[in-house]
Amino acid sequence: MIDRYSRQTLFEGIGEEGQKRLGNSYVVIIGCGALGTVIATSLVRAGVGKTRIIDRDFIEYHNLQRQVLFNEDDIRDQLPKAIAAERHLKKVNSSVEIEGIVDDVNYTNIERFIGGADLVLDGLDNLETRFLINDACLKHRIPWVYGGAISSSGMTMNIRPGETPCFRCLSSTVPNPEVVLTCDTAGVISPAPFIIGSLESAEAMKILVGAKEIDRDLRIIDVWQGTFHRFKIARRKDCPACQGKYEFLEGRFGVRTTSLCGQNAVQVLNPGAEHLSLEELARRLKPVAEVSYNEFMLRFTVDNHEMIVFPDGRAILRNTTDESLARGLYARYIGA
Ligand SMILES: [Zn+2]
Repeated sequence: MIDRYSRQTLFEGIGEEGQKRLGNSYVVIIGCGALGTVIATSLVRAGVGKTRIIDRDFIEYHNLQRQVLFNEDDIRDQLPKAIAAERHLKKVNSSVEIEGIVDDVNYTNIERFIGGADLVLDGLDNLETRFLINDACLKHRIPWVYGGAISSSGMTMNIRPGETPCFRCLSSTVPNPEVVLTCDTAGVISPAPFIIGSLESAEAMKILVGAKEIDRDLRIIDVWQGTFHRFKIARRKDCPACQGKYEFLEGRFGVRTTSLCGQNAVQVLNPGAEHLSLEELARRLKPVAEVSYNEFMLRFTVDNHEMIVFPDGRAILRNTTDESLARGLYARYIGA
């Protein structure tokens, strides 16, 4: 025990007392891709007492370029990310509790998933679930660390209910899906999520040990340009979440799916999306899919599924009745 953490307890910011606090802590990591694998590996190695990792996806070859916990065997064994992460991390540190959960986090289940946690960490690739984390964490007064990375850049900010601005203060409305780049259309290089995941892990340690150095700013980094910026974010007076209106948690916004009976298709509704520019979306999808569009609809095919998108953000995914697959593909290629 002493040997395992000796280099960390020597560090005065942690010490023996901090190590005990880490050991008594319970964190929930939502999303186990590039960010989540970095965060999980840091915190499990650091001796956080219990770590819950939630992710809905399986591992694919194009994940290995940046998702540090996974390997080719996991793909051959067809393991979900949460299970592979749990298995690998248990071999790293058998003295702590690690729980992998394979599920889609949404407004019906998030409160159950984060209940009792000391801290929630964002390892996500979509905005919608971040607004949901924000609502649930504010409601239950659990601090959370926001982090996102794409292309060569990323950003992170700590959100502590009652003390700091929240994620909705930061981006008050759901942005148009076409301006939200996703990893599947814009690409990503590993140093971007690595550095953001590392910053999230450091903030997690500080929050868990009760350090006075906990960061208050939004930090934005571009590893290709070599730029590091910090921004002071103000609390918005009209922020619904800060006033206790949890619209995402109530299921008022967010992507909704309906299986279209007899058509072998799923309809995806995105009430939070405003008018969608199909021209802009076509330009963004061009590198990854065959796209055709007119002023009424846009059509593209990925992974053997044809998706038809309308200017109000609505989409129909053909050739499946799997609603969670439809939500996943919508988040990947259209965003939000
Ligand atoms: Zn707010």
